[in-house]
Amino acid sequence: MKKVAVAEGDGIGHEVIPVARRVLEVLHPEYEFFNVELGYGRWEKTGCPCNDHEIAALKDADAVLFGAVTTPPMKDYQSVVLRIRKALDLYANLRPVKGDGFDIMIVRENTEGLYSGIEEIAVDRATTLRVVTRKGTERIAKAAIRLAKTRRLLTVGHKANVIKSDVFFRDICLAEAKAAGVPFNEKFIDALALDLLQHPQAYDVVVTTNIFGDILSDVASYLVGGLGLIPSANIGDRFALFEPVHGSAPDIAGRNIANPVAAVRSAAMMLEYFDDADGAHLIEQAIRQTLAAGTRTADLGGTAGTREFGEAVIREICRRKKAP
Ligand code: ATP
Repeated sequence: MKKVAVAEGDGIGHEVIPVARRVLEVLHPEYEFFNVELGYGRWEKTGCPCNDHEIAALKDADAVLFGAVTTPPMKDYQSVVLRIRKALDLYANLRPVKGDGFDIMIVRENTEGLYSGIEEIAVDRATTLRVVTRKGTERIAKAAIRLAKTRRLLTVGHKANVIKSDVFFRDICLAEAKAAGVPFNEKFIDALALDLLQHPQAYDVVVTTNIFGDILSDVASYLVGGLGLIPSANIGDRFALFEPVHGSAPDIAGRNIANPVAAVRSAAMMLEYFDDADGAHLIEQAIRQTLAAGTRTADLGGTAGTREFGEAVIREICRRKKAP
């Protein structure tokens, strides 16, 4: 029995996460689910987007199913996502991008780099400190290497020709890869971003620093049809959180048009984390079959609503579960 915390967050999180939760409930009726309210909506109601009580609730679960939160551009508003990543020490952000002939796993360092939070805005100058530590780099390198061991290649993405902290990051990653005996190469992140689009089949596991990984995975989503399709896992040594790569998309929220595939695939990644590879596979097959049958949301050129698409996927899961 697993305990799953469900944090829908804001915007389309309220639409795509119920679909993902339903999929988990169908496959694992024995799981216990509980809601955790956090995000901008909670801030509007209570003046606080997430307090210690919510953090404790997330820690109480075996895994968290997370939607997306809106971060308003207000000076003193603390980012909920950054707070959760720090509190749960979710240092590895895994973002798979799979399509015909390619299977890429972007491994993004999730706790430091340009997201150090050490920054200030003065009148004529603003600074953000890019922090790359040995501990942070070694553990993300090791996480990427663990994946590369079961696959074929590790690529280290960096900008070591310009940025000193990336010389540090690259050297540690390459030394770890060499010591572990996995095949590896390295590439400047800007050239990598273009080459990934032109030759996706040349890539397998790609490890990089925080903001580079964030941008690279959004760019890579172009290969598969956009942000509505890419899931992610945020993994630490004690906790795990699963969320779509996309944000709360306020522009399309509340209209039942968001694509729930990224959220449902995030649920599948949760099942893999729980060692239910069959369940994860079943979800992926059901998504592929539903898309292939022409049921698609508007971002993919279709007319299905979020709920209708979700129902079609669940029907397909039930059909496959019953089949001998
Ligand atoms: P946030 O500020 O929370 O990051 P955002 O709107 O700036 O939200 P995203 O939500 O990541 O950024 O997405 C950018 C745009 O891509 C959205 O405005 C929306 O139009 C589109 N989009 C994102 N996710 C989906 C989805 N699941 N289905 C359909 N369109 C999506």
